[in-house]
Amino acid sequence: MLDEIRDLLVLQDRDRRLALIAKDLEKLPLEESRARNKLSGDQAAVKQAHDALQANELVLKKIELDAETRRTTIKRLKLQQFETRKNEEYQALGHEVVRYEKEVDQFETRELECMEASDALRATLAGAEAALKRTKQLVDEDLASIAERKKNLLTEQAEVRAERARLAEATSPTILPLYERLLKSKDGVAISPLHEGRCGGCHMKLISSTVIKVLSGKEIAQCEDCGRILYPD
Ligand SMILES: [Zn+2]
Repeated sequence: MLDEIRDLLVLQDRDRRLALIAKDLEKLPLEESRARNKLSGDQAAVKQAHDALQANELVLKKIELDAETRRTTIKRLKLQQFETRKNEEYQALGHEVVRYEKEVDQFETRELECMEASDALRATLAGAEAALKRTKQLVDEDLASIAERKKNLLTEQAEVRAERARLAEATSPTILPLYERLLKSKDGVAISPLHEGRCGGCHMKLISSTVIKVLSGKEIAQCEDCGRILYPD
């Protein structure tokens, strides 16, 4: 085998590794955002539970306020009742008091219901917050492992790049530009094996003179169809 061919095969191996590393690195941002998206469902559940509790607390405050207003009114009516001398007015005020007391009673029942609902909502919120915390822990682990992989890939990339630069330097300058052109245009495969009379890159049958040229191992031969550099399998 020609020395140039041997050099190119090693070079192509490093170029392939670099392409794979680049591909892996490209995937990482998507993986990161996928990991972060896992939080959104739990975050929404926490917000929903929080909002529901807040709304219920507002209703509770309103009921308390309404009950308090009635109680003040009752006090005022009782005072009026105490001050009046007319029997008819006295009785009318008495009816008013009873009516308001019934209302206060209703408000107190609703107040209790509302307080129970608040307890349930607080429990829901606590559950949602605990779930979010657990998910966040998992997501943090995912993100840490992605960061670790990224670090390793970048280290490997730097090593292979340095090695590739050394190899390119040592490769014959008469063949290197052709190799690099083919690497770009032929999907990362610039040099292919000759296999059973066919080009290992495009699988086209080669003419006999090309096959002989490859097998002789004395000069660089290219596939007449795709242009890839050929070497004996
Ligand atoms: Zn070919």
